Amino acid sequence: SLSDRLTATFKNLRGKGRLTEADVDGTVREIRRALLDADVAVPVVRSFVSRVKERALGLEVSQSLNPGQQVVKIVNEQLVEILGGQTRRINLAKNPPTVIMLAGLQGAGKTTLAGKLAKHLKSEGHTPLLVACDLQRPNAVKQLQINGERAGVPVYAPHPGVSSEFEEATGDPVVVAGNGVSEARQKQHDVVIVDTAGRLGVDEEMMKQAADIRAAINPHEVLFVIDSMIGQDAVNTAQAFNEGVDFTGVVLSKLDGDARGGAALSVTHVTGKPVMFASTGEGLDDFEVFHPDRMAGRILEMGDILTLIEQAEKSWDKDEAERMAQKFVDQEDFTLEDFLAQMQQVRKMGSMKKMLSMMPGAAISKQQLEQFDESQIDRIEAIVRSMTPHERVAPKLLNGSRRARIARGSGVHVSEVNQLMERFSQAQKMMKKMASGGGMPGMPGGGA
Ligand code: GDP
Ligand code: MG
Repeated sequence: SLSDRLTATFKNLRGKGRLTEADVDGTVREIRRALLDADVAVPVVRSFVSRVKERALGLEVSQSLNPGQQVVKIVNEQLVEILGGQTRRINLAKNPPTVIMLAGLQGAGKTTLAGKLAKHLKSEGHTPLLVACDLQRPNAVKQLQINGERAGVPVYAPHPGVSSEFEEATGDPVVVAGNGVSEARQKQHDVVIVDTAGRLGVDEEMMKQAADIRAAINPHEVLFVIDSMIGQDAVNTAQAFNEGVDFTGVVLSKLDGDARGGAALSVTHVTGKPVMFASTGEGLDDFEVFHPDRMAGRILEMGDILTLIEQAEKSWDKDEAERMAQKFVDQEDFTLEDFLAQMQQVRKMGSMKKMLSMMPGAAISKQQLEQFDESQIDRIEAIVRSMTPHERVAPKLLNGSRRARIARGSGVHVSEVNQLMERFSQAQKMMKKMASGGGMPGMPGGGA
C-alpha cells in the first residue's frame, strides 16, 4: 500500500532535523501514482500533490512518528480536508418539510438513490415523500414508484389516479416539483425528495430545467449524484452541475465493484462541496453515510491505522508520553505503575476494543478481543492499588502468598491477579521490543 511505500522511502531518515526537497520528491512521486491509480483526475492530483509537498517540506522530524508516518499523516489530513472534513449530515429545515432535490446525468443513479435515501430517512424517524419529476424517460415515474413501494414511502407523481388534486400538472416537471412540495406540506411529510431527469451528457436544456426546478422549490439540499466509475470526466461534469444548479452536497453512486473512489476527491476538490452519501449497489440497503476519513483511507489503502495515530495524538497525555519515551531512552524497567498508567490512557482515548483492534500486530486474538470488557481496567486498578509501592516497581517479588494477599485486598480471585501478571509480562516484552525497534513511545502494551 501507499503507506508502506512511504514508510519505506523514509526508513533511513530518523534523526534528521527537517526533510529536504530531495527527501520529499520520492514520496511525492509515490503519492501521485497512488492517486492516479485511484482514478483521481489529473489536475486534481497535481494541485493536491503540490500542497502536500509544501507541508512536508516545512516538517520537523518528530520524536514519536518517523518521517514516513508523518508524511502519510499529512497526505491523509489533506485528503480528509478536501473530502469535506467532518461527515456532513442533511441540513434539516426549521419549518418542515425539508426539501431535497436530486440532480445528475442520466444513469448516474438518482432514482435508485431516491429510494435508498427515503428508506434511510424513514429509518431515522422521518416521514418522507418522493416526488417524480423525471417526465422525460419512459418508465422513470414507474421506477420511482417501485422504489418507493419497496422503501415503504409514498410517491407523488403526475399520473391520473395515482395522486391528488394537483394532478392537472402533468407534463411540466417544474410545476410537478412545486406541487409535490405543496402535497408534502399539506400531508405533513417532514421531508420531500424530488427526483429529476438527467441526460447522457451535460446540455443546456437539462441544466435549465434543473435550475428552474431549483428556483421553484427552493430546496434545503441539492444533491448531485455522480457515478464513481466516471473517472477523469468527474471534474467537468461536477463543474457544469455546480455552475448550473449550485448543488449543496454530493452523492457517489456505484461505489461498489471496481470503483476506487478517486471521483470523490476530484468532485470535492473542484467544487468544494462535500460528499454526503455513497450508493454501493442496486439494492435499497446498499447505501452509506459518507465518512471522509474512511474514504481517505480507501484511497490510500491504509485502513484505520491513521485514525489510531490521530486519536493517539489527540488524547495521549503529552507529559505521560514523554515520560514513557524517556524511560525507553534510559532503558528503565517498565513497571506495573506504567502498565496501569497506560491502561488509563487507553481508556481516555475511547473504546479499548476499537483501539486494540486497530493496533497492527497487537498481541491479542479475535476471541480475546470479543471477551474484553472495559470494566476490567477498574479491576486492574484495584489490584495494582492493593500492591505495595515496592511490589509495583519490582513485580518479581510477587510470590504466591503476596498474590493471595493482593487478591483479598482488591476483592478478586487470585487467578485474576495471576492473569494480570501474565498480561503485564507480555506488555513488558512488547515495550522492550518497541524501545529497541523504534516504535511509537507511549503506546499501550496490548492490554488484554
Ligand atoms: P438515474 O438515471 O440517475 O435515475 O439512474 P438510475 O437510478 O435509474 O440508475 C441507473 C442504473 O444504475 C440502474 O440500472 C441502477 O440499478 C444502477 N445503479 C444505481 N445505483 C447503483 C449503485 O450504487 N451500484 C450499482 N452497481 N448500480 C447502481
Ligand atoms: Mg432516474
